[in-house]
Amino acid sequence: MAIATEPIGSIPRPTALRWAVGRGLSDEDVAALCADAVRDTIERFEATGSPVITDGEQSKPSHATYPVAGLPLDGLTVPYADGHSRRYPTLAAGPFRYERFAATYLADARARTHLPVKQAVVAASALSLIYPEDGIADYSREEFLADLVDEAAADIKRCLAFGADSVQLDFSEARLALALDPSKGMLKSFIELNNEVLDRFSETDRGRLGVHVCAGNSLGSTHSAEVDPAEFLPELFNLGVGRFYLQLAREPDARRVLAAVKESARPHHRVFVGVTTPFSATVESPGLVRDRVLLAAEYVDPARLGTTDDCGFAPYADDTTTSRDVAFAKIRARVEGTHMASEVLGA
Ligand SMILES: [Zn+2]
Repeated sequence: MAIATEPIGSIPRPTALRWAVGRGLSDEDVAALCADAVRDTIERFEATGSPVITDGEQSKPSHATYPVAGLPLDGLTVPYADGHSRRYPTLAAGPFRYERFAATYLADARARTHLPVKQAVVAASALSLIYPEDGIADYSREEFLADLVDEAAADIKRCLAFGADSVQLDFSEARLALALDPSKGMLKSFIELNNEVLDRFSETDRGRLGVHVCAGNSLGSTHSAEVDPAEFLPELFNLGVGRFYLQLAREPDARRVLAAVKESARPHHRVFVGVTTPFSATVESPGLVRDRVLLAAEYVDPARLGTTDDCGFAPYADDTTTSRDVAFAKIRARVEGTHMASEVLGA
């Protein structure tokens, strides 16, 4: 049987698109640059042989902020290991509504390819961080969270309705939550909130829903690499999705992570493990990918095992850490190496 392989989502934006951001171009000009970037990304994705592709998130400002791109980034600060930080926006008034749904990106991509297209959405837990500490007059935190759950569910529903092959919740703050609160209280509250959203979906639909967790990825740095995945994986598998896309290639002790997966994953879960690293310039050989898959297959039944990249290659639009050429070369290595492993495993 062929082992499944899928990207996480993002690809570094072309220079022309990155240059345009913040230069005061008209909406039409920016849209034309995005359309060019999506067309080129899909062509190059198809050329890798990847059986499932994405639009490379070319039109998203970031994996987390596309629904609220109009808000200033003046809220919660997430520090990265190399000293830089990223900020969330702050909500100033209710009612909370998404300015943009991910299905609009999906529709553009599906019009350009016959291959299955996967769509990433931000998890409600990430957007829950935009409600200010000191509250909003006449709009309580409870009212906000109720609106947020409605909007996050609508975001996923629209992607399914527009024919997404799968919908992936980007839940990078799962691991960060454990760095901030080792008691696991924050992580459990995030999972509870996301499950409120997922409860709106049928068992069948939830088989097409997945979650991505990593140690963060911005400008080649991480926000929670020190957290032991064996600590959060048992909680993560309580999330009501069928697919789990987990960082593995960068983990210092892959066997420890795989043992935790084996211990906690349920029989209906499909587990996609990272076999390429998004921000090292060295392109993995297909043989190295094959060996990583074979290691994972010692712990996860190949029928439920898939491969992916440890993270997207540019979750933030301004990130130039990895070139487009390197990103697509890594994807090609993932596809070839996964195929090689399938053959070894008697496919
Ligand atoms: Zn990631």
